[in-house]
Amino acid sequence: MNNFSYTRASDVASAVREVSSGDAAVFIAGGTNLIDLMKENVTQPSRVVDITRLPLARIEELPDGGLRLGALVTNADTAYNPQVERRYPLLSRAILSGASAQLRNMATNGGNPMQRTRCYYFYDTSTPCNKRDPGTGCSAIDGFNRIHAILGASEHCIAVHPSDMCVALTALEAVVRATGTQGERTIAFADFHRLPGDTPQHDTNLRSDEIVTAIDLPARGFADHYAYLKVRDRTSYAFALVSVAVALEMDGDRITEARLALGGVAHKPWRNTDAEAMLNGLNATKDHFEAVAFAILREAKGFVHNTFKIALAQRAIVRALQHAAGMGRKG
Ligand SMILES: Cc1cc2nc3c(=O)[nH]c(=O)nc-3n(C[C@H](O)[C@H](O)[C@H](O)COP(=O)(O)OP(=O)(O)OC[C@H]3O[C@@H](n4cnc5c(N)ncnc54)[C@H](O)[C@@H]3O)c2cc1C
Ligand code: SF4
Repeated sequence: MNNFSYTRASDVASAVREVSSGDAAVFIAGGTNLIDLMKENVTQPSRVVDITRLPLARIEELPDGGLRLGALVTNADTAYNPQVERRYPLLSRAILSGASAQLRNMATNGGNPMQRTRCYYFYDTSTPCNKRDPGTGCSAIDGFNRIHAILGASEHCIAVHPSDMCVALTALEAVVRATGTQGERTIAFADFHRLPGDTPQHDTNLRSDEIVTAIDLPARGFADHYAYLKVRDRTSYAFALVSVAVALEMDGDRITEARLALGGVAHKPWRNTDAEAMLNGLNATKDHFEAVAFAILREAKGFVHNTFKIALAQRAIVRALQHAAGMGRKG
């Protein structure tokens, strides 16, 4: 039994004050990940700061034509928001491919990017894990690593980030808004999550005294040409083995801009802008898509049980690009 104190914050400033008080303090929003981590003894906070009453549960239009998603709007309310459905269907589809209806009703936009990996060893406190207990080693590298990373891994951790929503937010070039003791700042979504390097205990670049207040979507939503393709062991209620978010601008059959992010393959949603640029000005053909898929996976490295993900990711990229370009059913 680990004792912890519980506080309900009434405004953002007091939430920041509470979480930076010096104890091992954490925010709780929907609780769909944090409570599991506490029950499994993976996380032992001494202070839990409830942020569910903060005024961050709105979706608002921005003067530049973008959309601000409050951190406490649920994943379900975001996915079914008429503006999101119409202007950012890629995001709506990615969210709805994740978890279950009940979980999406609780999970929040601030909590989703902050969820921890689903590496089995991270949850099994009887095994070494550098992410849970820095310096103890990584059980996955020589263990069962079927769901683990093929890109951007390190000798200290080969875990992947499990979110679907974040893959779409990366392709859409969303921006995270955060407030901490030093004031407000914005973080480009591509810079929000980290690669493991030698500090895999840190999943994100959010500082420990900061709260995510909102996620801003830029004006362009790529609503005409998009696809979210999620490949998983079951058709629902399963995390991605590989997922692909594609957003295209097209002039007839010609691609004028391509965005592509991968989920389930790295410690963060994976984007390779050099490979994307290969498509600019080209017609949408399977050959061109295969060349891009090959380029994105060129540096991929499999471990004993997850090498299949390399070919799987290549095929998923081609299929998602075909769907986005209108060459098949949307993913
Ligand atoms: C069985 C199961 C299946 C799932 N399947 C999927 C799936 O397929 N795809 C997918 O994407 N997700 C999936 N999820 C994960 C789910 O989407 C996340 O648990 C959820 O999005 C987390 O949001 P929350 O509000 O519940 O966060 P909480 O559990 O409340 O918090 C999670 C973490 O975020 C921190 N946090 C919360 N809000 C903020 C904030 N505003 N600022 C700073 N830190 C904050 C907390 O301190 C905590 O560390 C699944 C979860 C479960 C349990
Ligand atoms: S892959 Fe990362 S999370 Fe999994 S056991 Fe290794 S260090 Fe821990």
